[in-house]
Amino acid sequence: MDEIRKRAKELLENQTAKVVIGYGEGTAGKTRAVFIRKPEDTGQLIFDDRCEQNLAVYLLKHEVKHLGKLAIIATIPVMRTILQVASELQLTENDVVILGITPEKNLIELEGFKSVEDYLKTQDVGIRKEDKELLTKLTSLSLEEKWAYWEEELSRCIKCYACRAACPMCYCLRCFVEVNQPQWIPIAPNDLGNMEWHLLRAMHLAGRCINCGECGRACPVDIPIHLLTFKGVEDVHTDFNVVAGMNATMESVLSSFKPDDKETFIR
Ligand code: SF4
Ligand code: SF4
Repeated sequence: MDEIRKRAKELLENQTAKVVIGYGEGTAGKTRAVFIRKPEDTGQLIFDDRCEQNLAVYLLKHEVKHLGKLAIIATIPVMRTILQVASELQLTENDVVILGITPEKNLIELEGFKSVEDYLKTQDVGIRKEDKELLTKLTSLSLEEKWAYWEEELSRCIKCYACRAACPMCYCLRCFVEVNQPQWIPIAPNDLGNMEWHLLRAMHLAGRCINCGECGRACPVDIPIHLLTFKGVEDVHTDFNVVAGMNATMESVLSSFKPDDKETFIR
């Protein structure tokens, strides 16, 4: 922790960064994101087992970007988000200082996206064991049983959009759910509209989700919504041999093609 505070202080003092995004104490024993802009405030930064939130969700927010060059406390999901949004041309190496945190909670400064790519190759970026078990169980169900499972789960959705707000890959300035000409999905929660909202979101995240699990943690009614996009993570890996957030120059899986693709439908 001292190391993080010391480095953050240096970055702010020598103006390498204008703001450091990190974790601070919240309420009820929880942590929260903090935006440190003065060297004397770096004592607010903490890092412990509770610091799970994917802070990269703030990197592309207009109100944060306009503060100037950012530094960010970067756990593995944050590093992967950075590479993924860079591959989508939303972020460059000059925009951010990456204060990497290893799974052993050690600070490592990663210079440039290539060093992040190299570091991630040495790390386990797979889906957590407990989620993997749930996914395997769900995948083994029949189509009818899977539909019934999601119908039941999604019937509880109150369309609060906390899952979207917490997701670092949901950065569109205008989401399709807010488009009303045409009205893609109903505003009020209902069974069909909830299904449409979540299936469309899952499609938008296929090949882009970095399996941080933040959407599931954000849901106030405990819908395991991350499992939908995690299934996309698995399928994209199986079908295209691609893992999102591992390469800053990766082409988008679902919106790029090669004219010499072996599948004839593409020609
Ligand atoms: S796990 Fe959820 S929050 Fe994280 S990138 Fe995937 S869809 Fe977004
Ligand atoms: S956070 Fe939960 S309740 Fe809110 S929109 Fe997402 S799935 Fe629905």
